Amino acid sequence: MDVIVLGGGLMGTASAYFLARRGARVTLVERHRVGTGATVASFGNIRRTGRHLSQLPLAHRSRERWAEAEALLGRDVEFRATGHIRLIFDEGSLADMRAYAEAARPWGFDLEELGPSDIRARFPGLGPEAIAASFSPRDGSANPRLVAPAFADAARRLGVNIVEEARVDRIGFTGSGFRVESSKGVFAAECLLNTAGAWGARVAALFGETVPIEARGPQMGVTEPLPHRISPVVGIWTRSKAYGAYLRQVERGNVVFGGAAERVPVDLDPGHAVADPARLPEQLRAVVRLVPALAQVAVIRTWSGCEGYVRDMLPVMGRSATTPGLFHAFGFCGHGFQLGPGVGDAMAELIVTGRCETPLDDFRIDRPSLAA
Ligand SMILES: Cc1cc2nc3c(=O)[nH]c(=O)nc-3n(C[C@H](O)[C@H](O)[C@H](O)COP(=O)(O)OP(=O)(O)OC[C@H]3O[C@@H](n4cnc5c(N)ncnc54)[C@H](O)[C@@H]3O)c2cc1C
Repeated sequence: MDVIVLGGGLMGTASAYFLARRGARVTLVERHRVGTGATVASFGNIRRTGRHLSQLPLAHRSRERWAEAEALLGRDVEFRATGHIRLIFDEGSLADMRAYAEAARPWGFDLEELGPSDIRARFPGLGPEAIAASFSPRDGSANPRLVAPAFADAARRLGVNIVEEARVDRIGFTGSGFRVESSKGVFAAECLLNTAGAWGARVAALFGETVPIEARGPQMGVTEPLPHRISPVVGIWTRSKAYGAYLRQVERGNVVFGGAAERVPVDLDPGHAVADPARLPEQLRAVVRLVPALAQVAVIRTWSGCEGYVRDMLPVMGRSATTPGLFHAFGFCGHGFQLGPGVGDAMAELIVTGRCETPLDDFRIDRPSLAA
């Protein structure tokens, strides 16, 4: 089986890798360099807490692939299962957390509830005013700069043709397959996988499929390096967007943070998301509530990235509803980093075997919530 994968972010590179492992002949076409879209901008959170319940089976599958990543890819992509803590500062948010924990349990996801003394003992310095927290010990983070190039290199070693900096001029369906005309040559295959990220709806539209998607940029920042004190990824349960920050400390000591600010609007052409410095103070106020010691540190860089947000905040994954041999995996709504390896594994299974053991039905392109 021949497959063209269009778009070389985490979804495209992971899919190319797992397709090749299943024996497919794969060409991945990326118009820039692999991993330089939303993927490189990611905060790097490998988080299942708070995820839409129907995403949990895919998130579990992905968590297993993350655990194997170093062995599969022959490289450390800095996956660390440091745990993921979400602090709680008010009774309403505590009720929300408990309701989520209850609902997630039948989906195979167990959240620990921590009281104030557990937080102080296990995670000193985090949220001194917190009344409780949830803790997911097997979640954590990885390095968003490393993972897509690592999947691409591993895919290359399995024979995948990775074509970068290729301007794609035309994508056509011939009745029995696909033809992609690019500045780096013409490619033909019986299957096409659309992993074009925030631009994925444009590719779908070529085949008569409309997806309501908006390009937005979450805003990130990073501090100067500090002594390493914060081991888990830290977030919050809150009903107020103004407090919704999250952070993690990388092994070199810098603290990466995001959230608590509206996502910046992004024009898909050229698709460069630029952080807005005016939003930094509100982010920092929320960050300092999580870790007061960060009040005195310097922020050395801010950035954003172009991500596709689908109207119902779920990705589009699975078969095309119009064109045999066409598959989609795009529009990950700010949650795709954790899902990436699982998406690649699941899409490869679906394309090569015609079925997927992980339920993807809620993500199909013709679901009612996406109808005009
Ligand atoms: C700032 C930020 C922080 C985030 N933090 C997290 C987080 O902590 N945890 C989490 O789970 N998720 C997070 N996300 C979301 C996550 O990063 C994305 O969901 C994920 O990386 C999407 O991967 P992708 O491969 O679909 O898209 P991308 O990485 O954007 O890749 C799509 C690729 O397709 C290429 N392309 C587009 N059109 C064409 C074409 N016509 N021809 C050829 N190539 C094309 C693009 O150039 C691009 O390289 C974050 C996102 C952002 C922006």
